[in-house]
Amino acid sequence: MTQLTVPSLVGDLGGIPMAKPWFGAEEVEAVVEVVRSGWVSQGAVVARFEQAMADMIGVPHAVAVSNCTAALHLGMVGHGIKAGDEVIVPSLSFVATANVVRYVGATPVFAEVDPVTHNVTADTVAERITPRTTAVIAVDQCGVPADMNPIAALCARHSLALVEDAACAIGSRYASRPVGATSDFAAFSFHPRKILVTGEGGLITTGSSQVAQRMRRLRQHGMSASSFERHSSAAALVETYDETGFNFRMTDMQAALGLVQATKVSAMVKQRRLLAAAYQERLASLSGAVTVRDPDYGSSNYQSFWLLLPDDFAMSRNDLLAWLKQRGINGRRGVTAAHLEPAFADLAATDLPITKHIAERSVLLPLYHEMSVTDVERVCDAILLASTETSRSLERNL
Ligand SMILES: *Cc1c(COP(=O)(O)O)cnc(C)c1O
Repeated sequence: MTQLTVPSLVGDLGGIPMAKPWFGAEEVEAVVEVVRSGWVSQGAVVARFEQAMADMIGVPHAVAVSNCTAALHLGMVGHGIKAGDEVIVPSLSFVATANVVRYVGATPVFAEVDPVTHNVTADTVAERITPRTTAVIAVDQCGVPADMNPIAALCARHSLALVEDAACAIGSRYASRPVGATSDFAAFSFHPRKILVTGEGGLITTGSSQVAQRMRRLRQHGMSASSFERHSSAAALVETYDETGFNFRMTDMQAALGLVQATKVSAMVKQRRLLAAAYQERLASLSGAVTVRDPDYGSSNYQSFWLLLPDDFAMSRNDLLAWLKQRGINGRRGVTAAHLEPAFADLAATDLPITKHIAERSVLLPLYHEMSVTDVERVCDAILLASTETSRSLERNL
């Protein structure tokens, strides 16, 4: 028998990783059970996962897909967004948010973000509306909920479709409800950098059973009945292909992981909030620095913990990342600004000073379920030591 040699993430790489899924024996068992069953593609387990997620988020329907980018893409197709349309999105996001607009031939128009939440607001979206605008994608960046109600009201006034990119936000709360509960369409990610992990995986929610049915067809090449439905039907079903679809299917192996992970979301969010509080407390002594925190209208799952460096910080952002790496700590650059990336250089130049500042001056710090408060202190101590570095090297040169 062939043995795979797979490195264990933390053990073999050493130090403090950026992220690490929280898996136990239950996840392993659940996947093995699916493999043993002989049905590994989208089937009964995906359907059970969808129901569990709809219950957790508090929406009537959830459609599981291969990743969150596919979920957002379905959101665009589902709203009939097409060539010539403009879709308002934050530039400050993972590039998938802007990419999906292009997948349907439309043009992303970048809106500024709020300096505290790092999310678009009704005001920053309103500034970008033109006669060609047909939709808005609002992001719950790093798990911090966007203030969706005023954005939804603005979209309703202008007859714009609204999709919530909640890729990072499973377990966050908006106005005391789970993020996604108040949205017509919310898209979630189950990538290992997020919280509930299925390897790759995504989900789109909707309140309408007709829309859910259409999404389910679109994710399986536009077919009227899935392979599993044909297999499990007493009659011989013959499928039809009613519109051009995609292959956006999740597998039953991923859904089995997801079903176990779903039971752990509240414990994971609780632990992340505790670790985030330890970061906030210890970094408070870094004068001029700002860290991610809850907005007054909701609470974050702290999917990512960002630190915005003060202007007079002793080293550049990239030097700080190298400094941390030398000490076995894996930080990352902050969230990117799509409008500053070469892929979007052909779009009309947009001046987004807040976005640019955040993209250039922020770092994401390690945060994962099995991290200890001592690990958090180690990261903070390394940053605090870095902050005194220039003054000490200046002294040496005197
Ligand atoms: C991770 C992420 C995505 C993409 O999710 P995938 O599941 O990797 O496709 C989209 N938007 C945001 C804001 C993200 O953070």
